[in-house]
Amino acid sequence: MSTKVAVVTGSNKGIGLAIVRALCKQFQGDVYLTSRDAGRGQEAVQSLNSEGLKPMFQQLDINDVNSIIAAAAFFKDKYGGVDVLVNNAGIAFKNADTTPFAVQAEVTLKTNFFATRDMLTHFMPLVKAGGRVVNVSSFVGSRTLNNCSAALQERFRSEDITEEELVGLMQQFVDQTKKGEHKQGGWPDTAYGVSKTGLTVLSMILARRLSAKRPNDQILLNACCPGWVRTDMAGDKAPKSPDEGAVTPVYLAVLPPGATQPHGKFVSDKEVQPW
Ligand code: NDP
Repeated sequence: MSTKVAVVTGSNKGIGLAIVRALCKQFQGDVYLTSRDAGRGQEAVQSLNSEGLKPMFQQLDINDVNSIIAAAAFFKDKYGGVDVLVNNAGIAFKNADTTPFAVQAEVTLKTNFFATRDMLTHFMPLVKAGGRVVNVSSFVGSRTLNNCSAALQERFRSEDITEEELVGLMQQFVDQTKKGEHKQGGWPDTAYGVSKTGLTVLSMILARRLSAKRPNDQILLNACCPGWVRTDMAGDKAPKSPDEGAVTPVYLAVLPPGATQPHGKFVSDKEVQPW
């Protein structure tokens, strides 16, 4: 049988690094720590080596489509695809950051929504039968959904929203922030929140597509929240350690063979959450 492989984006620190640590202990196969910066990635690999763990390394900047294409080609060539993909890479401006909101919107949506979508576009065809795909979203995305206009909420909760429609709505948010019109457009004042609403809805769309197009492959795809976790992003007041934050993403990444759910859900503390 060929060696199985798990890939985690943005895993040189924070929750991603903790996900790699846990997968090294729980996943039967090769585990790839990936980082946009090879130096930071190799340092992280060494830190896990010093714990007796042996992750592999692959450079992967999700904002650079050539990096995504090169990584996808590497995994296709070496393993014939991937068994587990965790889209963890993400960014957030600090609350105190004075960067204009329109710039924050463009930059945040670029990584958390559009680049993560690029990852999914290039990697979904590589996901093998029995594969598991986990998109690290956030409870902030759920809160943001509830603060959108009724019309937007209806679209984000509908089962017939297409990927193209969702992409159009995310772009509309970015465009409207540039004109200061996003509030009239029905959006709340949070770029991070909108990016994570978009990622959760994208997860639901792609899960429905898997069920329709690859019904026999038993691939499970979910979005999740790690909880509020002490990392460079969230600061040192958060209650969970990175290892605790990794619990739900890892639970979804190693759902046992034959499991049929959760699929296409938003999961927090290992429980499916209302959307
Ligand atoms: P950190 O800021 O600690 O880590 C983020 C990771 O993503 C870093 O490794 C960073 O790399 C990487 N990254 C950023 N942009 C890119 C890119 N373009 N390509 C590849 N990697 C990239 O954040 P957390 O660990 O806290 O967050 C991980 C995920 O969890 C995010 O998606 C976040 O939104 C989500 N989350 C976090 C919560 C929390 O409380 N911490 C709560 C809910 C969700 P680099 O070191 O090079 O910057």
